[in-house]
Amino acid sequence: MPAGDPPLTLRDLEAIPVSRLRGVGEKKGAALASAEIASVLDLLTHYPRRYLDRTREASIGELGAGDEATVFGEVHRSSTRQLNGRRTLTTVIIGDGGNQLTLTFFNQRWREKQLTPGMTVIVHGTCEIYRGQRQMTGPVVDLAGDQTGRIVPVYPQSEKSGLLTRDIAAFVEEALARCLPRGFDDPLPADVRKRFGFVARADAVCGIHQPETLTDRDEARRRLVFDELLRVQLELVRRKRRIERATAGIVHGTAGELTERFVERLPFPLTNAQRRAIDEINSDLVLGRPMHRLLQGDVGSGKTLVAVHTLLVAVQGGYQGAFMAPTEVLAEQHHAGVTAMLGDLSVPDPTTLMGDRPLRIELLTNRVGVAERRTILADLVKGKVDIVIGTHALIQDKVEYAALGAVVIDEQHRFGVEQRAALRDKGDAIAAPDVLVMTATPIPRTAAMTVYGDLDVSILDELPPGRTPIVTEWARDDAGEQAVWSAVRAAVADGRQAYVVCPLIDESESLEVRSAEDTYRALQATELADLRVGLLHGRVTSAEKDEVMGSFRQGETDVLVATTVIEVGVDVANATVMVILDADRFGIAQLHQLRGRVGRGEHASRCFLVGDPTTTDGAARLEALVASTDGFELAEIDLELRGEGTIMGDRQKGRNDLKLASLRRDREWVTAAREIAIEIIDADEELDDHPGLADELDLLLGDDDADYLLKD
Ligand code: ADP
Ligand code: MG
Repeated sequence: MPAGDPPLTLRDLEAIPVSRLRGVGEKKGAALASAEIASVLDLLTHYPRRYLDRTREASIGELGAGDEATVFGEVHRSSTRQLNGRRTLTTVIIGDGGNQLTLTFFNQRWREKQLTPGMTVIVHGTCEIYRGQRQMTGPVVDLAGDQTGRIVPVYPQSEKSGLLTRDIAAFVEEALARCLPRGFDDPLPADVRKRFGFVARADAVCGIHQPETLTDRDEARRRLVFDELLRVQLELVRRKRRIERATAGIVHGTAGELTERFVERLPFPLTNAQRRAIDEINSDLVLGRPMHRLLQGDVGSGKTLVAVHTLLVAVQGGYQGAFMAPTEVLAEQHHAGVTAMLGDLSVPDPTTLMGDRPLRIELLTNRVGVAERRTILADLVKGKVDIVIGTHALIQDKVEYAALGAVVIDEQHRFGVEQRAALRDKGDAIAAPDVLVMTATPIPRTAAMTVYGDLDVSILDELPPGRTPIVTEWARDDAGEQAVWSAVRAAVADGRQAYVVCPLIDESESLEVRSAEDTYRALQATELADLRVGLLHGRVTSAEKDEVMGSFRQGETDVLVATTVIEVGVDVANATVMVILDADRFGIAQLHQLRGRVGRGEHASRCFLVGDPTTTDGAARLEALVASTDGFELAEIDLELRGEGTIMGDRQKGRNDLKLASLRRDREWVTAAREIAIEIIDADEELDDHPGLADELDLLLGDDDADYLLKD
């Protein structure tokens, strides 16, 4: 790589195999391959997982009980002994100066071979004092090698494949030495770099791997994090704009009598959050490109009203609205609710004597009879139905509209991209309907910007006033559980009803069904012997399900024992107690969703989490639920506990993910990257003036990757 050639792009780095580096022979090459490091680009984006500041490292002699620390030491000796059963305990003694530290490892006999006397190691863990000796149980161990720098990078290493942090450090050092004469191409517009005070890319790459100081490291990280986030946002914004350009939308008028009367007649004022969301939606509706917006709001935050308002904007302009629910039961509930809400409103109709006619709302599901269905379908084509509520049936080919103007999709996670696209095609040939997607499973805004990057986001972060918050309690032992059942009996004695959610069994539905049946039988035989108990799980037929639900809704059943089938949409205002068994096995979002099944009426509600968690995360989840009823706050905690994986899921795999950026820690940079991406794309839609950026998107965010990002 002679100097004088143009600076290296990421694509150039991708084209250089690591085998070209000195010291990468067959064995190390295979080890690198197993860590998915094939090219110099892979190597240079294999970032240190931690750094040791040798100026601040602790010496063993300073460590007290409970201190978490990183220490350097020399291995003195190691041994393994058999414990009862098949467990082994390997003990390694390390020392510095005159002090010793005992490291203990369970079932890791290989440590004896790894940590041989005389070797220098870096260990990180919490010091305990055991029989007067300093000890760390299962510490993180890194093999130091000869490190001279003051800030030592520690790479994710794979001990089994024999790839050690010092190997990686050496390869990185060589790669940098060979690349630096040519330098690194820096595609970030200079003014953006200046605005944020970012270091140049070459400095960032060096600074992340070989920082002189921790400040260097931080500057480097900031720049590289921004690069990652900017690429993702550029791709998302570019796709969003392409869709917007390719599809003409309907220009709705937002002022009108229908929406005005609707709001006037509400028995309560809109919350500020509802008002804001309606404004945001309206500002989309008046544009000549289709809206594609996500409405996030906790259970009970009043999303339905915002949705209905959106549909009414379309209706008052002579268009139709469709409201799509994930299940037939939910569609029926929405139909009943919306009909009650809009009751006797009328829509302008110049063909009638009075100049208007009653607003017409219809339900279209597979349970609607054939004849009725035929009438509704015919009237939809004629434009005589204003709002149609249903399930997927609404986007079947058979359903045609006179002029579909707005579509609301409730609980979006049940609908795929294709269905959304199909709905979009239901508009007239000229313009696509505006789409509002609602979800009651909030995710933090910055995460939403990344996960739902093709959607605009509105948030209802405020509950209507006057709600009695659900009181949540954690029952962690038998006595606690006894108290739960007496609370259930007391509630029933008061005329209320309760849900009991059975333990979650991921592995198999049939096991889950069996456990639900067992729970049901056990409760009826003991704690709930005198009560009327129903059972609902995923294996009952839909007729049985209707019967069980119907009986619970009518108050003929006191307690409903169920699996998570009740997670979505069950709405019985008289149910005031939610009991979740083995609650620590559920995720935060799911617990919150289940809890949202109560607290829907005038009576104060309670949620009992029964569980004796075996992990600290499990306990943290239950504590979070007890402490907060705010879905957004819980979503933040969830992100904190589970990390990005929660949101990105399997999408995070592979080479092209966000390697350094954290949606949690780098929240502000997500927002900044989004803003810059919009700025760049809106001035240069196809990145013609930014070939360097365009090339990096091609390289790192192939179609597949961007598709995951857009998936829901
Ligand atoms: P979500 O769909 O977000 O779970 P809903 O739209 O079903 O919430 O609203 C929950 C309840 O709150 C409904 O009974 C609704 O009538 C009521 N509600 C909605 N908006 C307000 C408001 N601004 N003030 C008082 N009550 C409201
Ligand atoms: Mg709802």
